[in-house]
Amino acid sequence: MHLLTTVTKSYQNYIDGRWVEASEKSLFESINPANAEDVLGSFQASGKEDAGEAIRAAEKAFPGWAETPPSKRARILNQAADHLENELELIARELTREEGKILPASRQEVKRSADTLRFYAAEGLSFSGETFPQDDFSSMVFTVREPLGVVTAITPWNFPLSIPARKIAPALITGNTVVFKPSSVTPLMGLRLTEAFVKAGLPEGVLNFITGSASKVGRSLVSDAAVKAVTFTGSTQAGKEIHNAVPLTTRTQMELGGKNPLIVLDDADLDLAVQLSVNGGFSLTGQACTGTSRVIVARAVQEEFTAKLVKKTEELKIGDGLSEGIQLGPLASQKQLENVLRYVEIGEKEGAVLRCGGRQLTGEGYDKGFYVEPAVFTDVTPEMRIAQEEIFGPVISVLAVDSFEEAIRVANGVEYGLSASIVTRDVEKAHRFVRRIQSGTVKVNRTTTGNLIQAPFGGLKNSSTSTFRESGRTGLEFFTQTKTVYYGY
Ligand code: NAP
Repeated sequence: MHLLTTVTKSYQNYIDGRWVEASEKSLFESINPANAEDVLGSFQASGKEDAGEAIRAAEKAFPGWAETPPSKRARILNQAADHLENELELIARELTREEGKILPASRQEVKRSADTLRFYAAEGLSFSGETFPQDDFSSMVFTVREPLGVVTAITPWNFPLSIPARKIAPALITGNTVVFKPSSVTPLMGLRLTEAFVKAGLPEGVLNFITGSASKVGRSLVSDAAVKAVTFTGSTQAGKEIHNAVPLTTRTQMELGGKNPLIVLDDADLDLAVQLSVNGGFSLTGQACTGTSRVIVARAVQEEFTAKLVKKTEELKIGDGLSEGIQLGPLASQKQLENVLRYVEIGEKEGAVLRCGGRQLTGEGYDKGFYVEPAVFTDVTPEMRIAQEEIFGPVISVLAVDSFEEAIRVANGVEYGLSASIVTRDVEKAHRFVRRIQSGTVKVNRTTTGNLIQAPFGGLKNSSTSTFRESGRTGLEFFTQTKTVYYGY
């Protein structure tokens, strides 16, 4: 049980150290996908002018922040982490109400966001250049890393706290100033992260937060000449639009869509394979960029595997993520619901066999939310749209193959390359898989989902810009430029 808010609170942008209204004085609402009548708050529908003000504020604050001692920057990141941890339960509940994921997953995300800030607070202090051996002993040659300037961070709704944290923390610790635009589906989580930095004492203008639709503010936030870098996570379509809009000298880092395969070989532990499929395909209601969307299974074990997968899928408990024992929350928005139902229809029309799920859930507890039953399709062929296009919902397509070679060919036969996994006991085949799969994250006997804070993360092909990786120590590289110094005496 949870109490619904009866009075809608309105939240403001944070520009140049002040909470302010958008210039057009227009608002939009953030709603609970488990119950669309539950409104979390109203947010500023910002426009071009607000985007410009946020960029100017970040530009003005840059010289001072770049000169701020790194130890002081690190202290602020740690204090922001303290704030997230102190408010963990409250923020986690809001996260579930705003995005729909189940409460344990929300708690994990708040914790992970705090851990990310602490990780970069520590790593940033030892991130440095190199010195080079040379013949002239009267001089030294070394590189220094310097911040870029104003960075725009644009983020999606599926990890509305932890994705912004892994962009903003490395940007700030290396001395950049930031303009942050969260997804319009989850503005409250963006605001909570911003508040954590404000409470930690971040100087004015160093982090600026603006809400509003991409159609109104997107272009201004990425095409302004003062913006030296854009760090973006979202759909491949939006990534392409941003790529076309940025000036020549603006750096971009983009983490985009996926169509992630799990290969199940005929020697696999089938119970493990089923568990990995369910966890990878249906956790977060299928709305993870690394979610398992295709299971490519050896024909010899296909029927046994599918029967077990369908049974496990039908046992999943679906409902409001705030309730005990729920395994799958609602989809994050009406748009997501329509999209998933559309793909189920497409799959059936293409001739795939819907073995379970795929229907909108209605009735007591479901009527006001965006609920769908997790779906399993079999008889899927590689060229079908449900095997090629990102659905971003709880839909698994099972494709049968006759050999290891065919499995690799099918797995690689899509435009994406974000995450891939194989289930096998055959060490040699696992090794060949690691070498041949076109994917930025590669796993053996693990879910396609999940990545470590301390390890690099990013995709190949149309899943990324293939420029700079996010996450880990590597995540700092995007936010700095190198100068080579020849220092003689
Ligand atoms: P989206 O529609 O691309 O939106 C992502 C963010 O970009 C939102 O803040 C959106 O603002 C903004 N945006 C959209 N078009 C823009 C444009 N032309 N210029 C500037 N900003 C723009 O994606 P989503 O529906 O939020 O998230 C789901 C997608 O994200 C999936 O494709 C998923 O695979 C991908 N994703 C990838 C990763 C990864 O690490 N590879 C991680 C998570 C999610 P509005 O909300 O105002 O439209």
